[in-house]
Amino acid sequence: MNTRHLTLAAVAALALSWGLLPDFTLTLLSYIALYALVAAGLVMLTGVGGMTSFGQAAFVGMGAYATAWVCTSPLAAQYLPAALAGSAWLPWVGLALGLATTFALAWMLGAITLRLSGHYLPLGTLAWGLSLYYLFGNIEGLGGFTGLSGLPPLVLGGFSLATPMRLGPLIWGVLLLALWALHNLLDSREGRAIRALKGGRVMAESMGIDTAHYRIKLFVLAALLAAISGWLYAHLQRFVNPTPFNINIGIEYLFMAVVGGAGHLWGAVLGAALITLLKEQLQDILPRLLGTSGNFEIVVFGLLMLLVLQRFADGLWPRLAGWTQRWVRPANAASAGTPSARTPAVPLATRALPPAGQVVLQASHVSKRFGGLVANNDIHMNVKAGEVHALIGPNGAGKSTFFNMISGVDDPSSGEVLLAGKPMQGQPSRHFAALGMGRTFQHVRLLGQRSVLENVALGAHRRGRSGWLACMLRLDRAEEAALMLEARRQLERCGLAALADQPAASLALGQQRIIEIARALAGQPSVLLLDEPAAGLRHLEKQALATLLGQLRAEGLGILVVEHDMEFVMKLADRITVLEFGAVIAEGTPAQVQANPRVLEAYLGGADDFGGMAA
Ligand code: ADP
Ligand code: MG
Repeated sequence: MNTRHLTLAAVAALALSWGLLPDFTLTLLSYIALYALVAAGLVMLTGVGGMTSFGQAAFVGMGAYATAWVCTSPLAAQYLPAALAGSAWLPWVGLALGLATTFALAWMLGAITLRLSGHYLPLGTLAWGLSLYYLFGNIEGLGGFTGLSGLPPLVLGGFSLATPMRLGPLIWGVLLLALWALHNLLDSREGRAIRALKGGRVMAESMGIDTAHYRIKLFVLAALLAAISGWLYAHLQRFVNPTPFNINIGIEYLFMAVVGGAGHLWGAVLGAALITLLKEQLQDILPRLLGTSGNFEIVVFGLLMLLVLQRFADGLWPRLAGWTQRWVRPANAASAGTPSARTPAVPLATRALPPAGQVVLQASHVSKRFGGLVANNDIHMNVKAGEVHALIGPNGAGKSTFFNMISGVDDPSSGEVLLAGKPMQGQPSRHFAALGMGRTFQHVRLLGQRSVLENVALGAHRRGRSGWLACMLRLDRAEEAALMLEARRQLERCGLAALADQPAASLALGQQRIIEIARALAGQPSVLLLDEPAAGLRHLEKQALATLLGQLRAEGLGILVVEHDMEFVMKLADRITVLEFGAVIAEGTPAQVQANPRVLEAYLGGADDFGGMAA
């Protein structure tokens, strides 16, 4: 049995038993699905994208109030065509209004709050969560804190969905559809980009991903799921008031996502079920044990949550998956992330590489000042196609600063960087990627839990086109097949094809560095920037790295390495630039540089042995 069979069996069992279950259970199941829909959005936002929101309940409220207002307000009736009055279409108008207002508000809030980093983002979500709650309660047209009542039931094909018995299947249908779409999204080019958000802004941007845009889109997606849940909720309850959209409930939604397993979609369903049932039971049992004088369930609930989070930091779903591993295989485990072999791959966009000897990257008069400190002082340097250029210098010489200047991470205070002949002043690193720059990081930045293949495919992000909707609906399979094929090809080029399906974190450091190179290659770069690629590698790993870089040079890439390991640099580089105190003190072939008295001075205070030195 695999996970897909299990899912189908569970859904079939639920569908078959639906008519036999008592009303109370049906109501409970309907609520679980409503909560799970919101929690699934949070799994995407928090677990996958790394952004915490306490304010989702407010978006549920938007969805609920929009339809309540459309269906019951005399004011709304004035705006709508007379033919709609009292018709079965009103709730659908309500849904459209709810989605539209949520979209607009979430986009706006996202644009403001998502700029905040660290603790400020969750605090920001608390702030607007509270404001919206009070707004619902204080707008007279929305019935104040008493709310709006008399909502009509949903009618589908002339069939009134007035009871949980009838509306429940629609709610579960919507939930399952959403889970399917989100699952598809995660298993695609756009999903990899979303996952990359957690790997840090600098890494994701250097893969060509507009991180600010993706963060806002993810936030809007989670908000829309919440609004749909609110719409269904309003027509299940048939009245709305502000209480269920309170900030407490916002926190509970986050609990559901985290307790279930913040990175797993089914964790949302597990979390929603556990917390709903637990609250139900506690409200029942505790008053009998402890009397009715206090809200003990809140205290016990809080303590239980603490315990779960303390014992199962990653949530319960991964644990559950671990326990059942023996009986339930993951669906198509062998080819995880690979679209079916039947899908023909569409060719990816390719780029012609510049001829050997052509300057691909040029820095002229580049200076960088941090306050009074001149970290880079009037640096000239160029990298040509088909050569390895090394940048060396003692600690604090300004190498990392220069690396940031030429890769778009930071802007020079003065001077100019040209990539493929284009001035790059003020451009973000994703534009550097688009013009043919690939890079690796001094501290390896891979998505450790994802497979090697997926990590490499991330590098090809820019070469695909499919948008979120296409990915959700599985219309991207041909392109996905091509991206995976390309990732495999790059892994083969780097000699790591055998490790394609391993989680990246399980590999040795030397292999991880080579995966970063394969990832950069998947973007079809003409110039490759490597930040201390040999640091921390064992002797054999360094040899493998040198062989690979030599081979890439022969294929026509321009390579710039910032490196401490002199032996490595002297053997590999065609040209070397030496920095000291932010300025270039020498440039030339390894032999010229080794013979340069200023270089010897800078490194060893004049000693003549160059071979054994390390900066
Ligand atoms: P290297 O990589 O060659 O060791 P760096 O480029 O990291 O050198 O640093 C060069 C100089 O600039 C150092 O004196 C460092 O303290 C300073 N520096 C680097 N980044 C900053 C920054 N963001 N703010 C202030 N000073 C910095
Ligand atoms: Mg450095």
